[in-house]
Amino acid sequence: MSGSLVKVAEFPLTQEVEQQFIDGAWVKGERGEPIDVLNPSNNETIFQLFPASDAQVDEAVASCWRAFHDPSWKKMPALERGKLITKLAALMREHAETLARLEAINTGIPIRESRLESASSARHFEYFAGWAGKVEGSALPLMNDRLMYSTREPLGVVAIIVPWNTPLKLMSRGLAAALACGNTVVVKPSAVALASVLYFGKLVEEAGFPPGVINIVAGSGRSTGAKIVGHPDIRKIVFTGGTEGGLEVLGLAAQNVTPVLAELGGKGPIIVCEDADLDEAADGVMSQVFARQGEVCFAGTRLFLPPSIHDAFVEKIKERVAGINVGDAMDEDTDMGPLISPDHLADVVGYVESAVGDGASVACGGERATLEEGPDGNFMQPTVLTGVNQDMEAACEEIFGPVLTVHEYDSLDDAVRDANATDFGLASYVWTSDLRQAHRLAAELDCGNVFINTYRYGSEIPFGGTKKSGIGREHGEEALREYTQIKSVCIGLSRWHSWNRD
Ligand code: NDP
Repeated sequence: MSGSLVKVAEFPLTQEVEQQFIDGAWVKGERGEPIDVLNPSNNETIFQLFPASDAQVDEAVASCWRAFHDPSWKKMPALERGKLITKLAALMREHAETLARLEAINTGIPIRESRLESASSARHFEYFAGWAGKVEGSALPLMNDRLMYSTREPLGVVAIIVPWNTPLKLMSRGLAAALACGNTVVVKPSAVALASVLYFGKLVEEAGFPPGVINIVAGSGRSTGAKIVGHPDIRKIVFTGGTEGGLEVLGLAAQNVTPVLAELGGKGPIIVCEDADLDEAADGVMSQVFARQGEVCFAGTRLFLPPSIHDAFVEKIKERVAGINVGDAMDEDTDMGPLISPDHLADVVGYVESAVGDGASVACGGERATLEEGPDGNFMQPTVLTGVNQDMEAACEEIFGPVLTVHEYDSLDDAVRDANATDFGLASYVWTSDLRQAHRLAAELDCGNVFINTYRYGSEIPFGGTKKSGIGREHGEEALREYTQIKSVCIGLSRWHSWNRD
């Protein structure tokens, strides 16, 4: 059953009794048939997941509420809460290599990148630990004889639904903020990729969080996930995933009027201006589109070029693509690992074939990659399509793979119009040497994040989308608003008179 890359014994979490972390204890999932959790570098089973039953979801939510009201959490001074979060971050640093290896094996993220992801996951906790003692309300001017103030209170029980791409980091950003604000949390990782999240549960236990503050309930989205999302006692759902799943979650949550923070798909444009440093821009485009084999929501995947630099720039990209090493995620030399599943690989190849059928040209790649040596995983060649126009599926839909579509623009106004002409609005990228142009484009691009001559995401930078890319913002001080609610308090300072006076 074990893959050639993983000795299951190295990872005690893969034992069936250690997959659901409920009320501070590890238990076996009680819902029906187990699910095979695969290594996408060779499609072999790493371990079997025994999913959580509806009763176990109910117990996790109840345990969260008990913990929320328990003095050990509720009355814990905010600074102490911050220290506990810092302790968890320190454990994540200590176990960073194991977390990175689990993430690489289960998601296909190359190990060198996975180490960076494991560090940035710990960083989310380090960053939000500092906010724990700084969640403030305000005093509001009303009238002379009344004092009005507001406090920011935790919401209660928050559910965090995590996708399979970079699960540890995408869980960490929301969980760190939710804990800093004093909430208790049910985490539901994807049944496809959860090894790192389960191991993280061990660190929660070691850090000494009171039982029930963090519960991890694993199972597939449409069974265990839907039970969580439809639960009437959840006060907020934090969903990161595809737009299709997001719409289902929004519909279910609406039944209980549960608010949803939705971080959904993207289709990021990259506008390269004539005046850009073209070598720098080409290096930038490479990391914007091919990092983590393109399975990145904020990837820049649509490249807009003026005719004057089009051919030369595409050549620069092709030269760089030729240097990409596609291979096993655990190989230290790998730049691009496998896609998550054979079905997803087939979908990505399908987008390329459909674009070619509609008249696009393959500048490089375009097919499944077969390794000369090594396992038979879901490998895809890094692909560049030229001659792409706006109505091709490959230009409108999120491909979520290593495919760059190249578009020509006549004027920057046209570039902005076409860049904005999708259902998505997560991240946009601009390469230019003209300061005024940079600010103009930043203002005109319809999205949550704009990056000019760089590529950087971090705990401090508010992150989220417009249009079908989502609702709300993670990261930074903005996140505190997502994980708290305002309570207004009004106090009379002089004797109350009859009802019809001010
Ligand atoms: P999915 O939408 O398929 O799944 C996301 C999570 O939701 C998984 O845990 C899944 O469980 C669960 N889920 C799916 N349907 C439901 C449902 N009806 N009720 C409750 N839970 C459900 O996304 P993927 O995992 O395929 O992730 C890739 C997508 O995520 C891409 O579109 C990407 O752009 C987006 N994404 C967005 C980010 C952002 O910050 N905006 C960041 C990263 C990714 P399971 O997998 O177990 O079935």
